[in-house]
Amino acid sequence: MSFLKLSGGTLYDPVHGVDGVVGDIWIENGKIVDAPKDGAGAVTIDVSGRVVMAGAVDMHCHIAGPKVNAARKMQPEQGRIGNGLTSHDAPMGSVPDILTTGYRYTGLGYTTCFDAAVTPMGARHVHHEFELVPNIDTGFYVLVGNNHLAMQYIADQDPAGLQSFLAWLINRSGAYAPKLVNPGGVEMWKQRAGGNARDLDQVIDGFEVTPRQVLQGITQAANQLELPHPVHIHCNNLGIPGNWTTTLETMRSLDGLRAHLTHIQFHSYGGTGDSDSGLESKVGPLADFVNEHPELTVDVGQVMFGPTTSMTADGPLGYFLQKLSGEKWYSCDTELESGCGISPIRYRDRNFVNALQWAIGLEWYLRVEDPWQVVMSSDHPNGGSFLAYPQIIRLLMDASYRLETLKRVNPRVLQRSSLSDLDREYTLSEIAIITRAGPARILGLRNKGHLAAGADADVVVYTPSENYETMFSWPWMVVKAGQIVVRNGEIQAPAAGKTLSVNRDFDLDRVKQIETWFSDHYSISVRNYGHGRVGADRIEVV
Ligand SMILES: [Zn+2]
Repeated sequence: MSFLKLSGGTLYDPVHGVDGVVGDIWIENGKIVDAPKDGAGAVTIDVSGRVVMAGAVDMHCHIAGPKVNAARKMQPEQGRIGNGLTSHDAPMGSVPDILTTGYRYTGLGYTTCFDAAVTPMGARHVHHEFELVPNIDTGFYVLVGNNHLAMQYIADQDPAGLQSFLAWLINRSGAYAPKLVNPGGVEMWKQRAGGNARDLDQVIDGFEVTPRQVLQGITQAANQLELPHPVHIHCNNLGIPGNWTTTLETMRSLDGLRAHLTHIQFHSYGGTGDSDSGLESKVGPLADFVNEHPELTVDVGQVMFGPTTSMTADGPLGYFLQKLSGEKWYSCDTELESGCGISPIRYRDRNFVNALQWAIGLEWYLRVEDPWQVVMSSDHPNGGSFLAYPQIIRLLMDASYRLETLKRVNPRVLQRSSLSDLDREYTLSEIAIITRAGPARILGLRNKGHLAAGADADVVVYTPSENYETMFSWPWMVVKAGQIVVRNGEIQAPAAGKTLSVNRDFDLDRVKQIETWFSDHYSISVRNYGHGRVGADRIEVV
């Protein structure tokens, strides 16, 4: 295969300290390679004057599987908006089909995306959809924070059993990392209406364990397994006024172990009870804690204004949102494993709560001192569509634009958030960190997020503009695994992607225990559980 050479671009590769240096990128067989001694015959593309970065990585979104399909079905009035349209400025609904999802991510320079919440039982469905998604590599996190067998191992004080089960579950489902969603709280909601875990030390009904023990048990097991991304945590009490104390206590309970807290914006609220009257930003003390603990990382879950869909494994949250909005609602129990809640939602800039959520998200980006610890996300589609990412970038890089926008939102936000005091502006290099280099490092993806030899040839070329939203909305070229998938801003023929997963050894003697559990409790057979051969050709073990 001949070389592809991207010639004379301005390179941003923060992994290697390259910050706006003019250079060439050489590509061969889907990988970035060192400049060859004899590059004769290379296909050369002049990218001089343009900005070159690695493909972006979305480490937290919801794009496939039973939950996403339920959301597609419950909103026929908007579910097909833009499906099949690949141009950058076409409309798109909040839950596009899987083909549109792949194309539109590519159109923004994203080449790797992780679905953040998949039940083990839903894993096969997700692999089916991933087989169809064009242009992006994928992976997913498997839900385990309300899993009955996991809680049983924790109650039995059997960490070796828990560790073996976790490894078995990740292998069996073809997952990349374990995910905790409102640990214990979803189970309590499933047992009785209004049930939830309000603090970390409440005993989970029917299980002699607490959310704190689930958090600690799974985090310890995941760190023991040396998973590339040990654990992805959606804290208890999402969206509830005063939840920042739960979030801080969650961070403390992790006791120095590596962990990632997701959509942290939704977990940073001061105030009390169910009333919004005292609602205020508590990013300050939480960001201080993150700044002092380099083992912790966060993604933001930025809220952007407009209509979208809330979809979550946090069953009680779906119920809570539906009561607030009066919108339609879908709830589902995944036996022994998880729950699910879906409801349409609209964030309004003149609404105090929504505007404060928007400000709190931006505070997080601006208050975490080390950009390697904070990742850009909108928790697509929960805080807003991934199509909003270029606008988030502009809000971070352009303080005057941010302040102009702040003037248009509900004015009470000025008293309840310190956003107006923050004048930090992100640099292009910092944007490269929070959108690709950082998430790749947090995920343990050595071949992603950088531009040195050995990296996957996922490369994006942008045309510089003073309007950063324009610049990041319209990449001039996107290369996926060495194949040009966007040229002159137009999406080309699709490239195949991979599903990234992890394998770990487990104690074979424990499998009999797991199988007995299945035959005693599940309505399906263990032989029908996991991904089987679905998606196997696409899977790459990291
Ligand atoms: Zn999420």
